[in-house]
Amino acid sequence: MRGKDFFDCGPASFYNCRVPETNPLSAPATRTCPVCGHDAADPWLRKGELHLVRCRGCGMIYASPAPAEFASGQYYDGAGAGYYLSPAKLESDYAAVRFERELRLFRKHRAAGAVLDVGCSSGAFLFQLNSRFPGCYEILGTDVSGTPLDYAESRGVPVVRGDFLEQPFADKKFDAVTFWAVLEHLLEPRRFLEQAWSILKPGGLCFVLVPNVTSLATRLLGARYRYIYPQHLNYFTRGTLTRLVEARFSVVEFRTTHFNPIVIWQDWRQHGKEVPNQERADLLKRTTAYKQNPLLRPAKALYALTEKSLGALSLADNLVAVLRRKN
Ligand SMILES: [Zn+2]
Repeated sequence: MRGKDFFDCGPASFYNCRVPETNPLSAPATRTCPVCGHDAADPWLRKGELHLVRCRGCGMIYASPAPAEFASGQYYDGAGAGYYLSPAKLESDYAAVRFERELRLFRKHRAAGAVLDVGCSSGAFLFQLNSRFPGCYEILGTDVSGTPLDYAESRGVPVVRGDFLEQPFADKKFDAVTFWAVLEHLLEPRRFLEQAWSILKPGGLCFVLVPNVTSLATRLLGARYRYIYPQHLNYFTRGTLTRLVEARFSVVEFRTTHFNPIVIWQDWRQHGKEVPNQERADLLKRTTAYKQNPLLRPAKALYALTEKSLGALSLADNLVAVLRRKN
């Protein structure tokens, strides 16, 4: 499974066509394409109970059927909460280096104003934004998962609880809305972008970061890659993400960022076996510690060069788009 074949294939040889057993208590939802709405798609990849298909209309890769607990967000308040609130994950999220790239990009395009972070979890991005640039921003976070929001509030980040689509913002308008690693988790990402559009001021900006399904890591690892997993319902390319946003937004900047060679090495060695949440949190903590260690400066320079080169080739781990609201 390599390069072009991996992405442009119809039914792939490793796709197992066995009909899945379904749990009657949480029946999985069959989906139409979240980008173009087309209902015809071909099997693309299967990993355990995760079924990915490729839309015949636009090429979007998405999970169908979608496991009910991930589609509803229920997972993030139950089994997933252990990871999102583990001390290792919180410590890494609140480390100064964690949102370095996002903050730089955000600051470049929006020097002040009202900011809403959708899917803010423990509030780390807003916390960093507010503490590094005091007085510049009016911050607000929102999430479906209550426990991380308690933590966000304990760190001074104001939050609104519940489903973003059902929140009455009344006449409140924002200068920026951010979705850092959120759209890949959603059953209907288009509705979230519509809602973002409706609460942005004219000329307001929307920041989107999602995993890049054409990254070097995905190309090398295919189904072994740990981020091909049930929490991720949508797998974007630059083309499909652009198509999703273009009705409501114009693209101001588009790039690929982040690269984690440790993840590639581990997933290669472990043949894609599921990585327990605790291990993911520990790795995040370790990666954060490497980034902060002055003794590793030469390695960091090499790393930065690699990330930059991958970015130039659109092969880095995430797609990042800065979008301007169309009027
Ligand atoms: Zn489509």
